[in-house]
Amino acid sequence: MSEDAQKLFAGPCGFVAGAASRDAIPPADLPEIAFAGRSNVGKSSLINALLRRKSLARVSQTPGATRQINFFALGEKLVLVDLPGYGFAQASKSLAQAWQSLVFSYLRGRTSLKRVVLLIDARRGVMPVDDEAMTILDEAAVSYLPVLTKIDKLSAAERDLAVLRCRDGLARHIAAYPEIVATSAVTGEGLDSLRGHIAALI
Ligand code: GDP
Repeated sequence: MSEDAQKLFAGPCGFVAGAASRDAIPPADLPEIAFAGRSNVGKSSLINALLRRKSLARVSQTPGATRQINFFALGEKLVLVDLPGYGFAQASKSLAQAWQSLVFSYLRGRTSLKRVVLLIDARRGVMPVDDEAMTILDEAAVSYLPVLTKIDKLSAAERDLAVLRCRDGLARHIAAYPEIVATSAVTGEGLDSLRGHIAALI
């Protein structure tokens, strides 16, 4: 990992704002990297692990409990945007629509948004809801980096297969970045690679 990336992720990090509605979305003053994924994909765990914090982003016991967009400033350099998890089983149709509408409001014309880190559970692969989310990002012309989570749960052979399957699942998505990063919030695997990727964008 470059020195810049090390400095960036070792620096101070603080909660800036939480937005449950379009009006509450803060103005974009800094470059932003957003994290999106199915509820329970391991998004909070990954954000905390990336930042080496225990509980900046909440690791939820109730899938789908966090339905707002949270903004965290990393130094004076970058804002990490934690998008609400999608596709939780208990969600009603109107809630799914509320998710789409809030996320759309954020994505629309957000020129400060450098990339979306799109999280895919390594054990499950690209699910229909992931496919829907990627289609939304394709339509919004927002480039996203596919990142597998919980890779520690797979054997070496299963990992290779998971990456291949994920690549297949991304094939028709025009805005997907042509690289897949495999990560684990538990072992720390892939985190430096992801930090380096993020630092190179600002
Ligand atoms: P979120 O809903 O996407 O924010 O997911 P959480 O971060 O709350 O994680 C969901 C569940 O997966 C929790 O029980 C975590 O402990 C577990 N988990 C998250 N990341 C990993 C990982 O890298 N490896 C393993 N083995 N478990 C993980």
